[in-house]
Amino acid sequence: MALVNIHFLNLQNNYLFADIAKKVNAFKVMHPKADVISLGIGDVTQPLCPAVTEAMHKAVNEMATIGGFHGYGPEQGYDFLREAILKNDFLPRGIHLDIDEIFINDGAKSDTGNFQELLHWDNFIGVTDPIYPVYIDSNVMIGRCGTYSDGRWSNVCYLPTKAENGFVPELPKGRPVDVIYLCYPNNPTGTVITKQELRKWVNYALKNDALILYDAAYQAYIQDPKIPHSIYEIRGARKCAVEFRSYSKTAGFTGVRCGYTIVPKEVSVATFEGERIPLNQLWLRRQCTKFNGCSYISQRAAEAIYTPEGKEQVKATIGYYMQNAKTMLETLRHLGYECYGGENAPYVWMKTPDGMSSWSFFEALLYGANVVCTPGVGFGPSGEGYVRFTAFGSHEKTNEALERIKNWSR
Ligand SMILES: *Cc1c(COP(=O)(O)O)cnc(C)c1O
Repeated sequence: MALVNIHFLNLQNNYLFADIAKKVNAFKVMHPKADVISLGIGDVTQPLCPAVTEAMHKAVNEMATIGGFHGYGPEQGYDFLREAILKNDFLPRGIHLDIDEIFINDGAKSDTGNFQELLHWDNFIGVTDPIYPVYIDSNVMIGRCGTYSDGRWSNVCYLPTKAENGFVPELPKGRPVDVIYLCYPNNPTGTVITKQELRKWVNYALKNDALILYDAAYQAYIQDPKIPHSIYEIRGARKCAVEFRSYSKTAGFTGVRCGYTIVPKEVSVATFEGERIPLNQLWLRRQCTKFNGCSYISQRAAEAIYTPEGKEQVKATIGYYMQNAKTMLETLRHLGYECYGGENAPYVWMKTPDGMSSWSFFEALLYGANVVCTPGVGFGPSGEGYVRFTAFGSHEKTNEALERIKNWSR
């Protein structure tokens, strides 16, 4: 008899974006003429830049020749891309990495979800709350999170980030966490972490022998030069942190698929006997067993982001989205809404007025202004009473949505 992994049955089947789609569809059935604008889902809308598409065309043509054909590539990625990453993403920030510490992947979701496989099932995980749901759900799948009630898992340490603490999570009190997920710039709140605050986390991890899983998928959106782009800008992080990066939001690769993970050779975890096991070797073993690499074409596309033209073009698109974020912040604040984020990230996190729940505001906005936002509570209990707006739309749609919100709010 084939038995199910019962932990999958514990997953909460309210996948946020499916719930939103259901409600939006119900609205559309009742109001077939309404033109709904979504400032909801976190996908990009602007096309790939010319430097990237040219590199892809070139790679496709190479693949059509005997000499240029590429079959299985190295599981850890091609050296041309790993070298470009070293030279452009880390060296200019004073971070020296070995090329073997870089693992090219097919996007940060896979690796942020899969990395927990290397860890014993009864590690105690901590997350800032609200958070990207992948971190918790991937741990639920192997039975690490306990039982679910009232929007919380019994065996997860939730570290609230909200207006009351200025979106600066406190270090865990009581039982120390073994594994900490941090995401900065943050999805969903759009807030960032200072070097000083990040140093507190690195010191906590070093002191408690904890592992930090640092998701920097939005680092390209940082505008303030004082904000760290990588956790390795903090001394000691090489001993306790793994970092995830993605080209999805950086360069519109959500449909191309490419990213990378940094696993420094110094990061290790313990056996019960106290032996230290380097995660770099384990991750290499895991990838070689379960992953056959990201496509040659995608990796050539990613390499093109680091050319002078690529850099300029990618920066222009990020500037385009950040213009939306700026307009959203200004308009919503002008209307009297309390808003956060949006300055170093493509998300604006808004407190709902009059203590409305996230979902009631979502419905009111949908029916009143025909605009879709994302209910904050979908990202965790501390997201209740907030909604997220994304800056990933076109200027036209974003401005039109804001105009409607203006009229509706009056
Ligand atoms: C979008 C996103 C990612 C990137 O996912 P990909 O698999 O690279 O497309 C990773 N982390 C967070 C928090 C995100 O919002």
